[in-house]
Amino acid sequence: VQRLATVPTAPPDAILGLTEAFNADKNPNKMNLSVGVYKDASGKTPILNCVKEAERRLVDDESTKGYLGIDGLPSYREQIRALVFGDQLPADRIAVLQTPGGTGALRVAANFLVTQLSPIRIWMSSPTWANHPAVFSAAGLPTETYRYLGSDRTSFDLDAMLEDLNEKTSPGDAILLHACCHNPTGIDPTADQWKEIAKTVSERRLLPLIDFAYQGFGDGLDEDAAGLHTILSTVDEAIVCTSASKNFGLYSERVGAVSLVAGDSAAMKASQSQLKAIVRANYSNPPRHGGAIVAAVLEDAELTAQWKVELEEMRQRITRLRNQFVETMKSTGKGHDFSFLLPQRGMFSFSGLTRMQVDQLKNEFGIYIVGSGRINVAGMNEEKMQSLCDAVAKVLE
Ligand code: PMP
Repeated sequence: VQRLATVPTAPPDAILGLTEAFNADKNPNKMNLSVGVYKDASGKTPILNCVKEAERRLVDDESTKGYLGIDGLPSYREQIRALVFGDQLPADRIAVLQTPGGTGALRVAANFLVTQLSPIRIWMSSPTWANHPAVFSAAGLPTETYRYLGSDRTSFDLDAMLEDLNEKTSPGDAILLHACCHNPTGIDPTADQWKEIAKTVSERRLLPLIDFAYQGFGDGLDEDAAGLHTILSTVDEAIVCTSASKNFGLYSERVGAVSLVAGDSAAMKASQSQLKAIVRANYSNPPRHGGAIVAAVLEDAELTAQWKVELEEMRQRITRLRNQFVETMKSTGKGHDFSFLLPQRGMFSFSGLTRMQVDQLKNEFGIYIVGSGRINVAGMNEEKMQSLCDAVAKVLE
């Protein structure tokens, strides 16, 4: 019997599908500005020197490939706690579990909300990373959206966001917040706006689920955690999902963490036991290598210092490229004002380009950006900047 003959083909992933099309494109001048991966001036996604050195040490010193505990490597979990939370909260209120990437963290968090806190739904910004609703829905977590972008599609509309939170949410609902480098818009709240968001989250008794995938890519390691700390100062409970994919360049090693903040130590321990039960039934325990690298770097003062320099280089390169794009657009064609990109942070920028213009860029120029107009600034290149801007100017004509 053939039962698989009736299985329909799934649509390609909105973002990774574009990379498949890019790889097949024969245009010698093609540019991939879709998927969120950092690239250096030579177009490569480099391995950080601190990571290479940590790996050398691991080869020499690692003594086993035996399973990690369900919640991962203790030294990694302790370092992530310090990096993300500092000393704002007592450690006995925070359960940190090492997960396969930030995506794994989000999935474990979603399973936790559904199994422990139902009925519950999660409010996400519109727009948000396309995989957010996919991951939450796969876990059976109902999703809703709050407004985030202004009607100009280039600015943050705080009033609209707060209006939706005040008028539509129920006490006990979860709210997804991007701690920094909002994906896909690059538009983050200011410090004052974070205070207002925190006040509303607390008044409406919402449970924050904070996605912190880009620490160090916005304004700096501590600066990027400021919004999260503002939220944590007004609530007793929260979940934070972090990732070492971007800030350690460990994309393929799949290393992240889900951190649960509880009101007290007893509540933390009970929730931690449920998180472990979820992991056990999903993938049993996380892979060791990525977590071991991060721990090796962060436990060593010299490697940590080197990491901070390398992270800062990546951050500054993205800022330079964003500025160069704005400058070059100004002097290209009849001149185009993209200065609204300047306050945007992180790998992504919302360009305001329409779906038709995006299609034209792909078909005529081999330039791949996401249908929403989201550009991966970190995929730009100094040498190709003028030809990129010429193409953008053409589709804007
Ligand atoms: N959250 C956001 C907002 C992201 O952009 C990403 C990566 N694209 C992730 C989480 C997850 O990253 P990873 O699973 O690769 O660590």
